[in-house]
Amino acid sequence: MRQPASLHDFLETPLAGALAILADLDGCLISGTAVLPGAARLVDEHGPRLWIVSNNSEDTARSLTARLTGLGMRVPSNRIFLAGEQTLRAIARQSPGARIALFANSRIQGLARRLGLRLDREAPDLAVLARSPGFTFGDLAKLVALAHRGVPVWRTNSDTSHPAADGTPLPETGALWAALGAAIPIRPTGDLGKPAPDLVEAALARAGVAAADAVFLGDTVATDGAAARAAGVPFVQVRHDLGRAVSGDARPILAAAGDR
Ligand SMILES: [Mg+2]
Repeated sequence: MRQPASLHDFLETPLAGALAILADLDGCLISGTAVLPGAARLVDEHGPRLWIVSNNSEDTARSLTARLTGLGMRVPSNRIFLAGEQTLRAIARQSPGARIALFANSRIQGLARRLGLRLDREAPDLAVLARSPGFTFGDLAKLVALAHRGVPVWRTNSDTSHPAADGTPLPETGALWAALGAAIPIRPTGDLGKPAPDLVEAALARAGVAAADAVFLGDTVATDGAAARAAGVPFVQVRHDLGRAVSGDARPILAAAGDR
């Protein structure tokens, strides 16, 4: 079954009447500081039913709300589920006060402290790898050494990249994980980012909406589509042609996952 050709077209279909609209962030609603076609209208017209479910591991829900407000989109922080933040919340619930070697930006490190986790790279109970633009060779060596000692390593998400506004791939947590895996055989102890259903299920629980009564919008079938499927939520793939958008030949494409 073909689906409409843009987010604007999606908004004209019965799918937009779902009790909850769950949406990916990067490559779906925004790309860097660019608001993608149809996203502002989605927020304006369906804000009370909109939930953001993203593998972002650099923002907190609160910082993302502020960033989106700056882009003209108002999404309250209690409607945002991010892989990095939710990973730390899950660890804090399971192991209150745990000592963690956290490879993440300063914002995520601050969140960890507020959740009562203790940052410790020398004798940690576990390690967590998030997207960290400041990640160095020294960080990699430390993480390899911890893994070699048997310290469990969590990964916030497996994405290897997400697209910049001009379509250029920006390295993601999964690219850092690949470097770790090149040095030592390893599997993540925990990974609740998409394609796992955890973030989707958390959003549904807070929304109080059954999976079949929601819809999930995302640009990546392998992560967004798989997470939606695992949670039982109908999935609609949004594909913005970012490279062409920059050249002035924008043609947003939206197709059902079944079309791939
Ligand atoms: Mg995406």
